[in-house]
Amino acid sequence: MINHEEEGKKFLDTVMYYYEKAAKHTGLPEGMLEQIKICNSVYKVSFPVEIDGEVKTFEGIRVQHSHHKMPTKGGIRYSVYVSEDEVKALATLMTFKCAVVNVPFGGAKGGMKISPRNSSPKLLEKVTRRFATELIKKNLIGPSLDVPAPDYGTGAKEMAWIADTYMTFNYGNTDAQGCVTGKPVGLGGIRGRTEATGLGTYFGIRECVSFKEDMTKIGLEAGVAGKKVIIQGFGNVGYHSAKFLEEDGAIIIGVAEYEGGTYNENGLNVEELLKYRTENRTVLDFPGGQNVEDSISMLEMPCDILVPAALENQIQEHNADKIQAKIIAEAANGPITQKAEEILLKKNKLIIPDLYLNAGGVTVSYFEWLKNLSNVRFGRMGKRAEEKSYNRIVDFVERITEKKLDTRERTIITQGADEEDIVRSGLEDTMILAYREIREAMMQNPDITDLRTAAFYVAIRKIALSYEMMGIFP
Ligand code: GLU
Repeated sequence: MINHEEEGKKFLDTVMYYYEKAAKHTGLPEGMLEQIKICNSVYKVSFPVEIDGEVKTFEGIRVQHSHHKMPTKGGIRYSVYVSEDEVKALATLMTFKCAVVNVPFGGAKGGMKISPRNSSPKLLEKVTRRFATELIKKNLIGPSLDVPAPDYGTGAKEMAWIADTYMTFNYGNTDAQGCVTGKPVGLGGIRGRTEATGLGTYFGIRECVSFKEDMTKIGLEAGVAGKKVIIQGFGNVGYHSAKFLEEDGAIIIGVAEYEGGTYNENGLNVEELLKYRTENRTVLDFPGGQNVEDSISMLEMPCDILVPAALENQIQEHNADKIQAKIIAEAANGPITQKAEEILLKKNKLIIPDLYLNAGGVTVSYFEWLKNLSNVRFGRMGKRAEEKSYNRIVDFVERITEKKLDTRERTIITQGADEEDIVRSGLEDTMILAYREIREAMMQNPDITDLRTAAFYVAIRKIALSYEMMGIFP
């Protein structure tokens, strides 16, 4: 029987251990490091909601880890197993995640003890709206205060209820839509947010495997194409990571879900698997793969890249030694415990850490927030002007070469960037630059030998700079 309070504590201990491990390389004063580490505020709330004539009490929590930049930012998780320590760990990760990808927010996270699977949409709506109201009452939500987003067990629907509740209480405020991100596009959401974490995961893996010398050290060739990948968790993040990796030539040999896994040495068809799972609510008996009943054992199967995209604490002391993948790409938050990491690093495994790899979600959330504050869709002002100048270039080239493009070719060449193009390009650039910064920190500090420590190190220094500039620390 899993004790979820204990698991939450283990997760928080792990995050603190990773922090300390990197902090000691920074040479920053103790007081500053303590301030950067601790959670700035924790708010717990209980409230009653009526369901089918009965009243039930629900518990919610919002943790704001760091106010060094405002607003604070982070998702809201729905699960009956949510614990305070788990949310604290996740909020802490958010602070460092934002700093790594240069998103100017402090970290936060929320949780509601509720099962999204076993609750009716009506109940989910009531609980979500009431939780939003509780946060409004305490000034714990708002475009310049704290901006929630989707996380495990929540999605665009919950974000829409939160936005609508906030806008009702803030009638006339034109920034109000920026109180939450991950909304449906029709309600101020942004194109490209749904796939953002998975796409960011893909960009991060692609960047990491592009360095030939780093790949040689772990016995792999450079490049995504041909790499054998196992994905744990086929939700939004797992599915999109698999899809973009597959599109770039990776072979998705296994997908594990809580009900079991499916495996095919020659590659599973990701799109067909999604269709199958949506229809059958299971990956078992998928015609394109073989069943693996014990899904946790899939983590231990041979592959080049293992992508845990489900929950925390999946690789622990007892199974770390059995992991055969050469790269572990953390699409989920906290999938590797501290003790497991020690074992994996000793075995020369390359871990692409969560605080970098899954930061695509919050990066595109930042773009959505910018869109909401400016009240204009990206690309709206410039798209046609861009097309006009491309057309002028094509006209000129046609004139001097005396060759004519057909309409299709001309349209492809002269297309201006729309919102989705701009979002994807911003995300790609962010992930590439952040990886290079982390890698560079490792090269500059020979004592730092793993990417996670380097990512924390980079983030801690950026946060310290904010505090220094505020004049809080001498
Ligand atoms: N819940 C996501 C995360 O863990 C997204 C947070 C956000 O977009 O604010 O990074």
